[in-house]
Amino acid sequence: MSDSPDNKSLFPKPSKNSSNGNNYQIWLLVALVVLIVGLTYVNKSSSTIEITPKRFENMLQAGDVREITILNDFVEVTLTPDALKSSKYEAEVSQKSSPFSLSQGPHYKFQIISAENFEKDFKDMQKQLAEAQKTAYRVDKNRTDFNSWFVSWGFFFALLFGFYFLMRRMTSGGGGGQIFNIGKSKAALFDADNRVKITFSDVAGLDEAKEEIEEIVEFLRNPTKYTNLGGKIPKGALLVGPPGTGKTLLAKAVAGESGVPFFTLSGSDFVEMFVGVGAARVRDLFKQAKEKAPCIVFIDEIDAIGRSRGKGQMPGSNDERENTLNSLLVEMDGFGTDSGVIILAATNRPDVLDSALMRPGRFDRQISIDKPDIVGREAIFKVHLKPLKLESEVDYKKLAAQTPGFAGAEIANVCNEAALIAARRNKKAVEMQDFQDAIDRVIGGLEKKNKIISPEEKKIVAYHEAGHAVAGWFLEHADPLVKVSIVPRGVAALGYAQYLPREQFLYTAEQMTDEMCMTLGGRVAEDIVFGKVSTGALSDLERITKMSYSMITIYGMNDKIGNVSFYDSKRSEYAFDKPYSDATAQLIDQEVKKMIENAYAKTKELLTEKRQALEIIAQELLEKEVIFQTDIERLIGKRPFNTQTTYEAYTNGKALKEAERLANEVK
Ligand code: ADP
Repeated sequence: MSDSPDNKSLFPKPSKNSSNGNNYQIWLLVALVVLIVGLTYVNKSSSTIEITPKRFENMLQAGDVREITILNDFVEVTLTPDALKSSKYEAEVSQKSSPFSLSQGPHYKFQIISAENFEKDFKDMQKQLAEAQKTAYRVDKNRTDFNSWFVSWGFFFALLFGFYFLMRRMTSGGGGGQIFNIGKSKAALFDADNRVKITFSDVAGLDEAKEEIEEIVEFLRNPTKYTNLGGKIPKGALLVGPPGTGKTLLAKAVAGESGVPFFTLSGSDFVEMFVGVGAARVRDLFKQAKEKAPCIVFIDEIDAIGRSRGKGQMPGSNDERENTLNSLLVEMDGFGTDSGVIILAATNRPDVLDSALMRPGRFDRQISIDKPDIVGREAIFKVHLKPLKLESEVDYKKLAAQTPGFAGAEIANVCNEAALIAARRNKKAVEMQDFQDAIDRVIGGLEKKNKIISPEEKKIVAYHEAGHAVAGWFLEHADPLVKVSIVPRGVAALGYAQYLPREQFLYTAEQMTDEMCMTLGGRVAEDIVFGKVSTGALSDLERITKMSYSMITIYGMNDKIGNVSFYDSKRSEYAFDKPYSDATAQLIDQEVKKMIENAYAKTKELLTEKRQALEIIAQELLEKEVIFQTDIERLIGKRPFNTQTTYEAYTNGKALKEAERLANEVK
């Protein structure tokens, strides 16, 4: 979800004291190293010299042995103080032993097969020796060689340690960063200590959505007003709309206005590679929320966990997401309407959400947020232009008129880009021209000043775009044109024509046909003027193909196919089968071909008739590169239809009053 930098800072992640964790790890490591070194130093058997049993016998007969210790599988030998001083042993023992083991022993060791047998042999050996040479011995079968013990246990501990670090790494970055915290919810909490500073005045337009949401704030502030009359407070509201239309912003505003604790997290925060973690996090979130009630929980991008169960799933795939969703459904049912917890969620894919999630009693309210119309755009411009230093000529209404189809996030982006462009040009204030350039940049991408285009190519592009413009100008149902540009850019590779889509929701077959003709205008112009076509019409062709297929197979706008729709809203995304027979498929293809051919012929007839206008516009484009609606009006006269084409038409009537009312509200 898009977010402006200034808004980001309003939702800072509560800082975690990570240095504490690191210190603790370092200390653990140091302790382990000290332990190993210390043990090696003190360890007696590691500093003893391995000898053969034969040599031990010689030592024994020479009377050099003070004491032996018989262990399970070897024997430790300690020399007498006199023997230690003799040249036979001194050099080798002092070199190998630590100061501690030099005086205390043991100094040597040798392997045996069995302690019992050796003990018997040793006793026999003792009998043959003189009384003075007798050696003391101890048996300690419980002790084994420390080295082998250390190797096996050390290895085990090293493994354990490694595993622990691995788990820490996998779970770090949230959830407390500990393996034991993996089932904890990752929601960030905003309460009295770190308040969200966004209010409803920062959200422009979206009147109806704001009204609904304001009521939710009111529920939390004054619940008895509603419950006294027997009403139940809604448990949740789902904000639905395209990306960048202000869903997150609205939720933040609720947090800012309501003054109650606000938990915010994203649907993907529930997802983890371990089974059962998502469900545990859901439970933990609700537990925390109930403790803090009254409060609001905001789950952004809920489609990450709320997708329809059993839909589009590969056989045998993990159903961890389903478990998480089930647990969310259960938790939402589990708390009463009087508990004071309200769940807000946002998504731009309501179509994929599970119907159980959307039923009343869970998300009681669905608040749809659409892309703003011209009035809404003006209000959003007002909000985002407030912090900028503007030249007095900047006209909000014109900007709103030139940005059809823009969502709030794109408008915020245009304002920011304009300020950056003005700064690059060392201006004292942002001018209208900077906004024009910013809009172009947002629509078409970066201007490619040094892209090499041959004059022939430029001519083709100019006629292509002029074709769109002229066709649209003389087709009654086509969208009014705003601007045509042939400046090469990143996204719109060679040029583009921008239209003002009507603020309407139903399209008639005539409107769609005119739209197709206008889209074909570019290719037709190339055909008429140059007698050949280029690859420049790729995106146009893609668009009309999609349009004609949807007219025939979805909207039932074809006589031969009839009033049927093959659209199935419940169809799995991964279904490959077609819901019609091969014969129908053939018919559909034929009808699509016919429809496009008819549109082409109609456009060709129109542009041949208006060849003069086409030439004029193309020449103007070649000269100026960018032309506006007013230029076209000046060059080829007004549109021959009584439709609202200019932005004044919008702003003159009811829309103007509405815009002013909203703008005043924002002020
Ligand atoms: P969504 O969650 O719908 O994808 P966001 O709420 O994240 O969109 O919007 C992104 C940015 O767009 C916001 O931070 C804000 O700057 C801007 N914006 C979107 N809608 C509006 C609006 N109605 N009023 C003011 N700014 C808006």
